[in-house]
Amino acid sequence: MNEIKMVDLYGQYLKIKDEVNNAIQQVIDTTAFIRGKDVSFFQDELAAYLDVKHCIACGNGTDALQVAIMTLELQPGDEVITTPFTFIATVEVIRLLGLKPVFVDVRPDTFNIDPELLEQALSDRTRAIVPVHLFGQCADMDALMGFAQKNGLYVIEDNAQALGADYSSSDGSRQKAGTIGHLGCTSFFPSKNLGAFGDGGALFSNDENFGLRAASLVNHGMQKRYYYDHVGVNSRLDTLQAAILRVKLKHLDAYHRARQKAAAWYDESLSGIPEIETPVRSPFTSHVFHQYTLQLDASRREAFKQFLQEKGIPSQVYYPRPLHLQKAYSDLGYREGDLPVAEGLCSRVLSLPMHTELEHSQLEYISDQVNQFFKS
Ligand SMILES: *Cc1c(COP(=O)(O)O)cnc(C)c1O
Repeated sequence: MNEIKMVDLYGQYLKIKDEVNNAIQQVIDTTAFIRGKDVSFFQDELAAYLDVKHCIACGNGTDALQVAIMTLELQPGDEVITTPFTFIATVEVIRLLGLKPVFVDVRPDTFNIDPELLEQALSDRTRAIVPVHLFGQCADMDALMGFAQKNGLYVIEDNAQALGADYSSSDGSRQKAGTIGHLGCTSFFPSKNLGAFGDGGALFSNDENFGLRAASLVNHGMQKRYYYDHVGVNSRLDTLQAAILRVKLKHLDAYHRARQKAAAWYDESLSGIPEIETPVRSPFTSHVFHQYTLQLDASRREAFKQFLQEKGIPSQVYYPRPLHLQKAYSDLGYREGDLPVAEGLCSRVLSLPMHTELEHSQLEYISDQVNQFFKS
């Protein structure tokens, strides 16, 4: 059995090595390193895959979120509702632009923002909601979009972890995660489901105005060459990354199937252990398993993690501290106990190895060891 890794980017690369190497060599041969042809081809191909009108590539997922807020022309002091149980980038950009993040607790089963709690977070300064499709499945978009529409709010989807997931509306329509709100954002950080060989990100919109404005904002707010209508940023996906992502996009559905197969194996082999809760699937979304995250009693987590490590099985806590209790954000005035579900999850969650290259023997070994720990 090969060494078990949390993420196996090298193993994934080896299977598409020639394709990727050729793509890289072609970019080098043209030397069009910035705004080369592969960037626009990739944008078009990803837009087609997601069935969305506008796809704007940019430097990384954090920039995508920042540019989304800039695109909507939100103003300092405006309030943005979001989740405390996510990667910091979601909240960082709200803060950097002088807006105020307002945290709404998550659901204990799906880890995603709880629509039932939106009402009490609403104020006359609320302008937008930023749901995160955490670990690979969509937040409850029907409820979120309904609430946003009723209250005149924008919705920016943080889709860094669920690119390619399908959302089914109660009206029977199906849309890809990230294309439902006014704007969607994603990341091509190497370990994301569609990972580049460096940083990368993208924005999505079905709205013509938002799409055009975002495209201009990522390129210094330029409309016509050297004429600027908005203050923008320099955030571009470089051509090498676009060329690599074009190759990998063709394999994305297969990558999802590999992740789902590993998840199904875990589900099956761990479901008999009363001490752990395996991931709960929402009925309205497919799950592309960016992470496979267990819940277990807080008092046993460290010992369990330690045990796995001794057996050569890496695991990771995503995330150990909710964002409303982070030092950098303490001036927002939140206290322990304000968002009890997120706080509880931070002490209970543990993610197992999840990637496209997990072998049957590795999965078998991992589940044997997990079962072993809880038997003793
Ligand atoms: C990875 C991630 C981001 C940020 O993406 P970068 O490309 O690393 O800037 C934002 N939000 C979530 C939920 C993420 O997982």
